[in-house]
Amino acid sequence: MAARRLDGLAVAASIRAELQPRATAFAARSGRVPSLAIVLVGDNPASELYVRNKQRAGSEGGLSVAVQRLPASATAREVLVLVDRLNNDDGCDGILVQSPLPAHIAKADAQQVFDAISAAKDVDGFNPYNVGLLTQGRAVLPPCTPSGVIELLVREGIPVGGKHAVVIGRSEIVGKPMALLLVQRDATVTICHSKTKDLAGVSRDADVLVAAIGRPGFVTASFVKPGATVIDVGISAVDDRALAVELLGPGSPRLAAFDKRGSVVVGDVHRSVEQVAGALTPVPGGVGPLTIAMLLKNTLAAAERRLDLRTAG
Ligand code: NAP
Repeated sequence: MAARRLDGLAVAASIRAELQPRATAFAARSGRVPSLAIVLVGDNPASELYVRNKQRAGSEGGLSVAVQRLPASATAREVLVLVDRLNNDDGCDGILVQSPLPAHIAKADAQQVFDAISAAKDVDGFNPYNVGLLTQGRAVLPPCTPSGVIELLVREGIPVGGKHAVVIGRSEIVGKPMALLLVQRDATVTICHSKTKDLAGVSRDADVLVAAIGRPGFVTASFVKPGATVIDVGISAVDDRALAVELLGPGSPRLAAFDKRGSVVVGDVHRSVEQVAGALTPVPGGVGPLTIAMLLKNTLAAAERRLDLRTAG
């Protein structure tokens, strides 16, 4: 039997609908709508698309999303100056620096940029202070993708307490915070990565399997216990038609989209998993929309918190 499809688009729409009245109440108290600033350096087409999606979702949630552009040639220093200005802008509630920064900005300098975002406005939840709060189980601004996954599991009625959750991937953005949030909800968590021995065997013991790898179709049916919940965080663009056919299936209507655009977006989970899993997130339309909804939720939470603090002071 085919796995139940976990509809991230629908859950994200409900989250955005819940934000509307809160955004209206904030506007009534403060005299302005909650505001997110996205720093976009350069003209990476994928980043442009992500930013447009965030802007559209923001307006649906009653938030303002302003894009602050810098040329691809911008130095880390110039990005830092912009972040500093936004940190000190009272009308800006949340700041997101869109990844990746141009390749000429060294990794350590890029890290400095992310670290420079004020913890109170760090809606991605990457600032070391916010990571510390997350580790202690009292996050105010949890990272958007893992918190979106938790929101999906809760709203779809999938319990994790006492279950074995396996997270494939240990990035700071997805894998590690995902594992922390699952353990805080009483799951027994195993974190896997590229050096894990017998990855398929370990994964096959999972009641909840989260794939955050970035390798198209990597997780096949042999990784999945029958009836398990499988969350596919991966997003990869495939531009090889033979691979697209293998991953989507020869009869897939999405091949028409491939033929039109020359590429298609796929996840880490192979279509063979549909026949084994109990529930599965699709790509696209699974975790991606939830990430954006949680970004808006964090922006609103940051706005409300700053306003509360000012009112109290
Ligand atoms: P990342 O920083 O590249 O981390 C990938 C992780 O996968 C690493 O921990 C790596 O292990 C592990 N890995 C790679 N190859 C492996 C293998 N053969 N076996 C086992 N583990 C392996 O990526 P990320 O930022 O976490 O993102 C992961 C995926 O999620 C990407 O496709 C990204 O585009 C997508 N993503 C989606 C959303 C969304 O909203 N849906 C948000 C963020 C990211 P090592 O640590 O050992 O190298």
